[in-house]
Amino acid sequence: MALITAGLVFAEDRWERNHAFVMQGVRILGTGEPRSLAERFPNHDGEDWGDVAVLPGTVNGHGHSFQSLLRGFGDDLSFMSWRDRILYPYSERLDREAILTGALFDFAELARAGVTTAVDFFYLHDQGNENDLAVVEAARQVGIRIVLARSMYDWTGAPRRYQETPAMAARNFRELHAELRGDRMAFAQPAPHSIHAASPDMIRSGAALAEEFGVPFHIHVAEGRYEREQSIERTGLSPVAFLDSLGVLSERTVMVHCVWVDEADLAIMRDRGAKVVHNPSANAFLGDGIAPVRSMLSRGIPVCLGTDGGCTNSRQSVFEEMRMAALVAKASSADATALGAEQTLLMGTARGGEILGLPVGRIAADHAADLVVVDLEALSLQPSQTAPKQIVYSMQPEAIRRVVVGGEVVVQDGRLTRVDEREIVAKVREVAAGFEPVATRGQAVVRTT
Ligand SMILES: [Zn+2]
Repeated sequence: MALITAGLVFAEDRWERNHAFVMQGVRILGTGEPRSLAERFPNHDGEDWGDVAVLPGTVNGHGHSFQSLLRGFGDDLSFMSWRDRILYPYSERLDREAILTGALFDFAELARAGVTTAVDFFYLHDQGNENDLAVVEAARQVGIRIVLARSMYDWTGAPRRYQETPAMAARNFRELHAELRGDRMAFAQPAPHSIHAASPDMIRSGAALAEEFGVPFHIHVAEGRYEREQSIERTGLSPVAFLDSLGVLSERTVMVHCVWVDEADLAIMRDRGAKVVHNPSANAFLGDGIAPVRSMLSRGIPVCLGTDGGCTNSRQSVFEEMRMAALVAKASSADATALGAEQTLLMGTARGGEILGLPVGRIAADHAADLVVVDLEALSLQPSQTAPKQIVYSMQPEAIRRVVVGGEVVVQDGRLTRVDEREIVAKVREVAAGFEPVATRGQAVVRTT
């Protein structure tokens, strides 16, 4: 049992100076002022980590790990041309080994950026679970905790390997859930893809599985304008109202994006207890718009953060999303008080844990020992008395000194401790060797005269 003291600790959702916490194996047992904590836990080994800030590991509420392999190839395209020219054709080329490589690549970047729990909304199933388990294996190798949000997809316009019938998807989910039962590092949650890629039967089945297993279910909602327009044209209802008409919205619903939602939609979401994953960088990168996060928060709708896939962001860091969330909320409302640093930090940590239903994202008793240790002597955190703000607004990745997941160090001094970064880079280059970027109008043209 270790009693750790540090210059600054984000303990139980607040910043405390010269504070302490007790860690035993995979868990945190308590936090407090160093002397009183030492009395509560007399059999401890004392460790002074010095002039550092210790905060909970960040929680990435939404991502698609294999998409990191496609990063840069379809940038500056519209969503539809990106999907049809990059996503669909290239995702067809990825075999299980390439899927594992993509996941190692993505999780390695996330871990270095301080992510300790990542949701992978995964859909290259080939009608089974072997590819899903390859993604889980990648998370184990890197040492981060994973929520495999097993996508449920039955729109026939997509590649065959994405598609399953509702019965097949339910059976595969049950098998995956059984396979991971009791695992403290990997969790399966159902994820009907969206209202455009999953039928009402599939969406109902995802919600029913969530109920059966007592877990959340994930679904993309109102990411782009086209989805809202199409929904209204086909059903007369907005995407949120349509989901409500299916009877699937509840406290188990984790809605990803919710950019194109109006006041009536927000009222439904609040009444049903639905939750949101906000992906500000991806929404900006794809030109989808800005989700009305301030309105969500003012109604009491819980919101956490996600990076989304590596080719729609393109930085894989929840600290980056915190900064973006705060900036776009301030910019879009022309109000600098719209979203503050501590509130945003909570969205990237504790809210993520709560929304996923896991005891992560907080330095508090009975939570996982998932930590990010930040060097208060780093240039990007000076002057250090303002570090609580600067961790959100000015911190650069080099300030992250150590990342701990379940009591184990997975990043030390900017290096991954359990996997070889150079080997991952070599594998990524091998997989992507045959990929070609699509020329776009926005690209600079180099001319020779
Ligand atoms: Zn997504």
